[in-house]
Amino acid sequence: MSDLNQNGAQLQNGAGKADGSTEEASALHDVIVIGSGPAGWTAGLYAARANLEPLLITGDDFGGQVSITYEVENYPGFPEGLSGPDLVDKFKSQAERFGCTVSYDHVTELVVDEHPFTVRTAQSKEYRTKSIILCTGARPRFLEVPGEQEYTGKGVSYCATCDGFFFRGKELVVVGGGDSALEEGLFLTKFATKVRIIHRRDELRASKILQSRAFDHDKIDFIWNTVVTSIKGNENGVVSGVTTRDTLNGEQSELETDGVFVYIGHIPNNDLYHGKLDLDEDGHLIADPMTRTNVPGVFAAGEIADKVFKQVATSVGQGCAAAMQAEKFLASLEAEGLPDLAEDPRAWPTPGVPRKTADLVAAD
Ligand code: NAP
Repeated sequence: MSDLNQNGAQLQNGAGKADGSTEEASALHDVIVIGSGPAGWTAGLYAARANLEPLLITGDDFGGQVSITYEVENYPGFPEGLSGPDLVDKFKSQAERFGCTVSYDHVTELVVDEHPFTVRTAQSKEYRTKSIILCTGARPRFLEVPGEQEYTGKGVSYCATCDGFFFRGKELVVVGGGDSALEEGLFLTKFATKVRIIHRRDELRASKILQSRAFDHDKIDFIWNTVVTSIKGNENGVVSGVTTRDTLNGEQSELETDGVFVYIGHIPNNDLYHGKLDLDEDGHLIADPMTRTNVPGVFAAGEIADKVFKQVATSVGQGCAAAMQAEKFLASLEAEGLPDLAEDPRAWPTPGVPRKTADLVAAD
């Protein structure tokens, strides 16, 4: 079954020196994009077209979450829809066509308290760059119940596109009440004989169009006001059922199932940023409407900074904006040097306090 870290191209071999020391990249980059989801590729495309010769470092999860989406129906320009991996391929080809360099590597450390910034990677590369666009996205949230870890890959999955095929003729449980739970639950009906969607409330968060498709589907049932409290396995070491609790009366129940697909939201991929960049209470990077973080020259786009929209279309827009802002930053760096925060506090938002669009328009 799938490993979320194996959704795309293979990582290239390590590039560290034989003595184990870090390889020093000689060139000073104008812009490095970190992440290969819709925001990252769009930032790479726009930066390339602005002749900034961007380097895009993909991360281990090539293509991000869209690459594990079976079908994208709401990205404009593709009226028939297309698969997530196909869309990522198109994003990548378009960015490369204009000169975006792609490195299949994973960033392990950022140094943003001195300029130029430093980016270190799992392949022991060290890059220096004048600006960075962070597009590291988010990852699935876990249920954190007994049995979840033990049976991951043995009936517990976070990717219907990857694993649905293994459940032909089986009965499945999907956990969650958002767009992902319904979209992936509908996808699973291609293989399963029955899909039960377990939701902790009696009202769905998902869009109306997905709700009506799910309600109308004869293979889909809903179990309302219920949470999964544990996942059970059989003597073959694979999932055989779940225990649940009614959130209204506390009643415990058992339900047989062959697989559990978990879609209960996402957690921002922010490991690189703790103590270095401002994060909100949910762990998203704080960026102002111009995609600027609290460090001049560091920009954020897509789900790492977006706690509201989280759409391919909005991530693409944010990636575009971040590249345009990076271009502007580089031009002002050339002309005036780094903004002096002490002398001109208006030059940048107060850390942790995103500026309003109106202020930005007035100041720019
Ligand atoms: P989401 O909208 O955050 O929904 C998460 C669901 O999981 C909610 O129903 C939530 O319940 C439930 N949940 C959260 N924690 C839970 C827990 N510990 N136990 C049980 N249930 C729990 O996440 P999503 O569905 O992954 O969607 C994320 C974003 O991507 C959204 O903005 C969505 O619109 C977008 N998206 C769009 C599409 C599309 O347009 N086709 C497809 C997929 C995703 P409550 O409702 O009670 O909070």
